[in-house]
Amino acid sequence: MNMEVASLLSQEERERTPVSFKETLPLLPLRGMIVFPYMVVPLDVGREKSINALEAAMVNERLIVLAAQRQAKVNEPNQDDIYSVGTVAEIKQLLKLPDGTIRVLVEGLYRVRIVEYLQFDPYYSVRLAEVEETNEKDSEIEALVRSTLFHFEQYTKLNKKSPPEVLSSVLTIDDPARLADVIASHLNLKVEEKQSILEAFSAKERLETLCGILMKEIDILELERKIHLRVRKQMEKTQKEYYLREQMKAIQKELGEADERAAEVEELRSKLAELKLPQEADEKVKKELERLAKMPPLAAEAVVVRNYIDWVLSLPWNTLTEDRLDLQTAEAILNEDHFGLEKVKERILEYLAVCQLTKELKGPILCLIGPPGVGKTSLAKSVARALNRKFVRFSLGGVRDEAEIRGHRRTYVGAMPGKIIQIMKQAGSRNPVILLDEIDKMSTDFRGDPSAALLEVLDPEQNSNFGDHYLEIPFDLSKVLFMTTANVWHTIPRPLLDRMEVINLSGYTEVEKVEIAKRHLLPKQAKDHGLSRKTLVVADEVLHRIINEYTRESGVRGLERQLANLCRKATKEIVQGTKRTVRVTPKNLEKFLGAPKYRYNLAETTDQIGLATGLAWTEVGGDMLSIEVSLVKGKGALILTGKLGEVMRESAQAAFSYIRSRAKELGIEEDFHERYDVHIHVPEGAIPKDGPSAGITIATAIVSALTNRPVRKEVAMTGEITLRGRVLPIGGLKEKVLAAHRGGIKKVLVPKENKKDLEDIPANIAAEIEIVLVESMDEVWREALVPKIQAVSVG
Ligand code: ADP
Repeated sequence: MNMEVASLLSQEERERTPVSFKETLPLLPLRGMIVFPYMVVPLDVGREKSINALEAAMVNERLIVLAAQRQAKVNEPNQDDIYSVGTVAEIKQLLKLPDGTIRVLVEGLYRVRIVEYLQFDPYYSVRLAEVEETNEKDSEIEALVRSTLFHFEQYTKLNKKSPPEVLSSVLTIDDPARLADVIASHLNLKVEEKQSILEAFSAKERLETLCGILMKEIDILELERKIHLRVRKQMEKTQKEYYLREQMKAIQKELGEADERAAEVEELRSKLAELKLPQEADEKVKKELERLAKMPPLAAEAVVVRNYIDWVLSLPWNTLTEDRLDLQTAEAILNEDHFGLEKVKERILEYLAVCQLTKELKGPILCLIGPPGVGKTSLAKSVARALNRKFVRFSLGGVRDEAEIRGHRRTYVGAMPGKIIQIMKQAGSRNPVILLDEIDKMSTDFRGDPSAALLEVLDPEQNSNFGDHYLEIPFDLSKVLFMTTANVWHTIPRPLLDRMEVINLSGYTEVEKVEIAKRHLLPKQAKDHGLSRKTLVVADEVLHRIINEYTRESGVRGLERQLANLCRKATKEIVQGTKRTVRVTPKNLEKFLGAPKYRYNLAETTDQIGLATGLAWTEVGGDMLSIEVSLVKGKGALILTGKLGEVMRESAQAAFSYIRSRAKELGIEEDFHERYDVHIHVPEGAIPKDGPSAGITIATAIVSALTNRPVRKEVAMTGEITLRGRVLPIGGLKEKVLAAHRGGIKKVLVPKENKKDLEDIPANIAAEIEIVLVESMDEVWREALVPKIQAVSVG
């Protein structure tokens, strides 16, 4: 149906038409539309039954019933498919079209209810019942009329499809029921909704239904409008940007800037040609350059691409320094930079000798393991100097993410190559010495295992094609000489450890430290502070005191710091003009460095019961450890205090069990555990202690407490204990013996199986301290405990 053709008869015209109710009339089922009373509509009729109905109506006062089908697509509707309320209409005009269909102009007259279908063929004929239409006029109706008009006005404003003159024509209608019909006929609604208005017989009901429908439609239209606006805004924005960009291009062209990008790309191209990258890299950069050239100026992506190209071009793809493979020079340089460390230097020289012979630096990676400040980093630096290579250092401490080593993919915002590639750029040559510091401090978490990436870096089979996520093209690391350092070996990931050759650097003795200070550290610091041998004189005795009282370490880092401190103070005095030469003596040392910071654990001054001296090894070197045991009334419990680790607690248990099993032979009352608790305490509680090597010391302290035999003050010991009283070997022997020597101990009990380590102990120390190799607890007690004088009594 064509709404625009629909028109409404004026009120007078309507009143002129005489209407008399007819009981039976032919029926024309309508598809997808409703005809309201007062509405004049053209209909195109094609179905045969409908044409028959029209023809029947024409001979019978031109009246026909129009009722809507529930579903438009049904071709032969039966009575259930057709709504039972319809409109009686008068046929105004009838026109046969050439294609056999008929166009009629009908005018709606009044509502009717279909009561019965009288026939279905050749057309539908129905019996009708009159519909009682009420049309009261009160203030409620008036309110409804106003509200309907208000909503209809809004509706026409929002709905572009309804012409504005409809509103003015509607305003002239007084009759509320008719008003509702007219408005309903102008709305663009679904058939059911229109039908619900048709089936509302009272004016009030009709207006209410209409109002509800109008409000819903307005909501929908409002939403449509918002969506439309939003879409338009977006469109406008992109159009505006496009327009501005085009304008900018034009301006840039005028200013001659448009060629800038082309010039930039050209410059990069010629740089690329000069560099002669490996084929894969070359192709990749060329591709990126093409992309860059096509990008609009100032596009954010252009910066990313430019950055990438810069990275690739800045890497030393073909830059190599020439190696100096000359053993004598290397040896001279190593000796020049470092005092002592004979074994280590020799090992490094052997390594270089192999390289000299094979003319290639391949082979296992050297891993220097030792406490801080023993010269690991500076040794690696010397190796680089000896080989005439660039040196770069990369600390792995705290690295826990694979991406830190291998980089992030370029899709990440702010992506960068990983540390290895960054280092290669920093080194500026493809064959530097790279020191991977603290590989024992690397950790693993959910972001991936950095040690796996590191394995690839270190593996000579794989590292000629090292893949960085950012770079995307392989980089050859095979010419790099990798060296690594660690403080302890047991936290180094096993597969890494397997690929490396470990060189141990233990701590320095006091004498060595004094030599290092005299030959290297002090001259270096003095020079850095503008001092000379004439202006700063430091006595040997002072160095000993600094080492013992101001530092506690295996290496010499703290010592170096204290010497720097000393030089700073001396420089100040000279600059202030108070002195020409500064002399540091043991007497005035405190003036420079303040009060001493440390006191070494020294040997006990008297033999004591229940107190034995052990030797411990920590990351910063060896130290002495007192172990105290006392008996308290109780039921044989073992109380352990002093922040002891799991392993140490277990070895205390083992010691205790062993003693209980030997109680009788040791002269201890066998039921002692029914009357006493044994309390073991290791002082300096804030420092965590662990490891099995205190086993024999704990056992000695317990036996001493139970037998009342004092422990000799000049004896210290170290060793693991078994349940059968055997003494097992321990680690860090050299450090421990150094600590014992420092503390004034005369005799050290050492597990027999550690005999091989004795050669590490410097001769001057070995001459001053007696080392006794022990195999069983009986030997330990024989050496450590003062013989029994009186009868044993416990408690
Ligand atoms: P690490 O890497 O083992 O922690 P460093 O190599 O940083 O230690 O050494 C700390 C400082 O001590 C450096 O200035 C180094 O030159 C110096 N040093 C260490 N050992 C020696 C030595 N044997 N001879 C000379 N200087 C040394």
